[in-house]
Amino acid sequence: MSKSDLFPTTIAGSLPKPAWLAETEKLWPKWHAEGAALQSMKEDSALLWLKLQEGAGIDIVSDGEQFRIHFVHGFMEKVTGVDWSKKTKMGIRNNRYEAEVPTVTAKLARPKAVHTADAAFVRANTRHKMKITLPGPMTICDTVANAHYGSRADMAMAFAELLNQEALELEALGVDVIQFDEPAFNVFMDEVTEWGIPALERAAKGLKCTTAVHICYGYGIEANVKWKLTLGEEWRQYEKIFPALEASKIHQVSLECAGSKVPISLIKHLKTKTILVGAIDVASKSVETPEAVAATLKSALEFADAERIQACTNCGLAPFPRDVAAAKLRALGAGAELARKTVGR
Ligand code: ZN
Repeated sequence: MSKSDLFPTTIAGSLPKPAWLAETEKLWPKWHAEGAALQSMKEDSALLWLKLQEGAGIDIVSDGEQFRIHFVHGFMEKVTGVDWSKKTKMGIRNNRYEAEVPTVTAKLARPKAVHTADAAFVRANTRHKMKITLPGPMTICDTVANAHYGSRADMAMAFAELLNQEALELEALGVDVIQFDEPAFNVFMDEVTEWGIPALERAAKGLKCTTAVHICYGYGIEANVKWKLTLGEEWRQYEKIFPALEASKIHQVSLECAGSKVPISLIKHLKTKTILVGAIDVASKSVETPEAVAATLKSALEFADAERIQACTNCGLAPFPRDVAAAKLRALGAGAELARKTVGR
């Protein structure tokens, strides 16, 4: 591998919705249109972000979740067996916040594809490699109440089968990377190995494209910032789950590094995986310098071969103002380029 091929760049997931498309700086924004008009606006927004990603030097691009309101509910809305009128109050992410969540009341099914039209639109509009994100089964189960399945693990397997149907259809459209978002992996440490990773592998079963899992400490919202203060001087959650992930068939692991208290040495447990090093902080609006991004990437080289490192964001950029997110994309692209030029120095 030549130096110019090192540190390919990608993003963890979401990007802000423009002010003309939806409410800004919110995790659950309201759309500003409906029906065909809304669809056309979502497509315009996806085009805008594709152009900005390409201009910023992002190699593996995505729609930035412009077609969905939220990373979990975008998928769940199209699944049957979920009763949205039966709201259950539930502490989510191990009671980090309380939410009124919909309830699974019958056998889950996916009567039609969820994100395939979005993916086909992106595929038709970029020559870059592309990524589509899907919520992971454990994280879905942490965002919905269970009144049908015998256990949360059983419900996770049912969601995993539906995710797998979706993922196989996405792959057939030419999607290069399918990423499952599992922030819940950092919370339910014992259950991750018991049923979280088996459900993740079920969701990825039979895929020939690149598969990834994204595990972060959440968006930079107040509840998460407060939770992080309780995690001590070093955040070592990854240490418990990386050995099990290393043994799994998932190809890539996306993790949070920049501005966090995660010791970068923990990536030594991922001996064969591609590591998406989070070099852009989502808890701060201040835009990283290319030097800071390059330093984060190079800090990983002590514990993993350069060939296995990709440059990524810590998490989605959705809650940011649009100009901040665009500037952070440019910092990521410029930082990776700087790291390529200065590696070994
Ligand atoms: Zn995340």
